[in-house]
Amino acid sequence: IISVSGVTKDFGSSTRALHDVDLTVEPGEVVVLLGLSGSGKSTLLRHLNGLEFPTRGTVEVLGQNVPKLRTKALRALRGRVGMIFQQFELVPSLTVLENVLTGALSRLSGPRIGLWSYPKSLRLTALTHLDRVGLLEKAYQRADQLSGGQQQRVAIARALMQSPEILLADEPVASLDPESSEQVMRLIREIAADDGLTVVCSLHQVDLALDWGDRIVGLRQGGVVLDTTTDGLSKSQVMEIYGRVATSTA
Ligand code: ATP
Ligand code: MG
Repeated sequence: IISVSGVTKDFGSSTRALHDVDLTVEPGEVVVLLGLSGSGKSTLLRHLNGLEFPTRGTVEVLGQNVPKLRTKALRALRGRVGMIFQQFELVPSLTVLENVLTGALSRLSGPRIGLWSYPKSLRLTALTHLDRVGLLEKAYQRADQLSGGQQQRVAIARALMQSPEILLADEPVASLDPESSEQVMRLIREIAADDGLTVVCSLHQVDLALDWGDRIVGLRQGGVVLDTTTDGLSKSQVMEIYGRVATSTA
């Protein structure tokens, strides 16, 4: 469902963010990207929905050659690939329900202001998604009144409004406490299983990668230095491998 091959990404003449990256992801897989700050996790994720284009190499997502897509086809692809971020990126002054509804904006024509400007069917869908992430009772509260973990769950509900086939998560739990982190990762995992969603998620914590990922891909200085399933992998093995990922220098 995702096939990245020989991707190198340069920013200007001095920064090589990705170096000859190969990554294949099968439908329904939950793949975790591990790596230090600056190792290229965000840049790789951004290639998967055409927010970045490779300097060299190919990026195929959902059967499409992403760098070759024209504006309209790219927009259509992005509708099939949801994304969530470390900082949630909710609109703080809007209610939770309105935030979820903004996830449907790309499929509507024209601007929407206020809850009642959305069709009733979409409002019901949004409530269904809020129920799924366990926040139905918060629907009419302002987004900025929620805890970080709750806000990330709202962001997940918003992403679900597009019925995505792939979910990209860029350090979705990096600003959350351990308990909320577990909760968000469990939710992502559940939704992936229930909806057959494919997930590529960057993380810093080995524990979470091991508990919630099917596969771990380790990045170092823009290169893939590790690609292994988590089946039967012990924490000490992961720590050893992660140590290598984290500490080796070129
Ligand atoms: P973090 O864990 O801090 O989020 P990361 O693994 O996501 O790090 P990236 O953000 O992908 O790392 O960055 C990889 C490299 O590419 C870094 O050296 C970064 O400075 C560089 N880089 C990323 N985006 C740009 C950009 N738009 N312009 C210039 N350099 C960039
Ligand atoms: Mg990043």
